[in-house]
Amino acid sequence: MKTMVNKEYQICIRCVMDTTDPDLVFDVNGYCNHCSNAITRLKQPPYGLSPKEKEAALKQLIEKVKSAGKAKQYDCVIGLSGGVDSSYLAYLVKQWGLKPLGVHVDNGWNSPEGTKNIENICKILDIDIFTNTLNWEDFKDLQIAFLKASTPDSEIPTDNIIMGTLYRVAEEYGIKYILSGCNITSESILPKAWSQGHLDKKYITAVYKKYGKNNKLNIPILSMYGKAIYRKIKRIYYVNTLNYVQYDKEQAKDYMKQYLNWQDYGRKHGESIYTRIVQEYILPQKFGYDKRRAHYSSLIVADQLSRHEALKMLKQPLYFDHTNLEKDITHLCDKFEISIAEFEQIMQKPCKTIQNFPNSSSSIIFRLLSMGYKFFRRKKN
Ligand SMILES: [Zn+2]
Repeated sequence: MKTMVNKEYQICIRCVMDTTDPDLVFDVNGYCNHCSNAITRLKQPPYGLSPKEKEAALKQLIEKVKSAGKAKQYDCVIGLSGGVDSSYLAYLVKQWGLKPLGVHVDNGWNSPEGTKNIENICKILDIDIFTNTLNWEDFKDLQIAFLKASTPDSEIPTDNIIMGTLYRVAEEYGIKYILSGCNITSESILPKAWSQGHLDKKYITAVYKKYGKNNKLNIPILSMYGKAIYRKIKRIYYVNTLNYVQYDKEQAKDYMKQYLNWQDYGRKHGESIYTRIVQEYILPQKFGYDKRRAHYSSLIVADQLSRHEALKMLKQPLYFDHTNLEKDITHLCDKFEISIAEFEQIMQKPCKTIQNFPNSSSSIIFRLLSMGYKFFRRKKN
């Protein structure tokens, strides 16, 4: 496995983050910056409120959503990926008596279990769904461009398009609230070096321009400015709603299996075959990044996993079965219409970062908006 570590190896003594994150910093006690920051954020509202205060905050949020959507067909937009967090949120919003419009982005990589989960949720909970099916030729070209760029950011086009679709649909239907399944319990730790540039339109279009087939990208990309307009001018609110409840992932899965015929695909992000390949093969093999470290560390600081158990789980191979890995890579190459040799050649290309491409990091306005966005995320988390 290739790693990008230039300094001596060290692992945090509280979580399981280690020096495979090039930006990791340790304090004198051996605690890393990620878990120390996450612990501070976990104390902030709404997550850090007492159960009683949290219940009151949730009640207030529900009333605001209901009031903004009064006399409308829908009062909130919810993303539906078929995964645990978004599926459980769909179940909750119906329990709360809200009128959600489900939004799904079909980027061509849904796993059969993910698709079945979405179908079951919409049918059993009686939720209308808006599906944004991407033009496969255009999206394929963008994904291949990111693979060839050799930065660890292969998933940001999908993340960007999902966010853009949620805002666009909310605006079209006159809906003021986007209720998201993102949550601090499982996502408080996400190293920047492992994935960045989600709202950096300059970076995304530069990568496409260099490696895509056409000169111009035909897929709308949401910029940091575009998002600021949705939030500040159009007043569409994005709320990480699971932070308002006592969210226990395993308990949530049990509920959903019982009431929504929800199928477990056994691992995080198993709803998308591409995400699985990126997180369980490309990132660890090419960059030395094992995203389970960030995920398990988030659960450790949220008291939902012990460090001992996390270290044990990290010893398990990412792909349990080599046949499955071969099957997934063959599937990827077939879909991308490239040979396995070509894919292996891309895997061997030197690793790069966002800094090797034109990006918005030198723009003062972008930096200010980015700081505001982080502050906003912290407040909402
Ligand atoms: Zn740590």
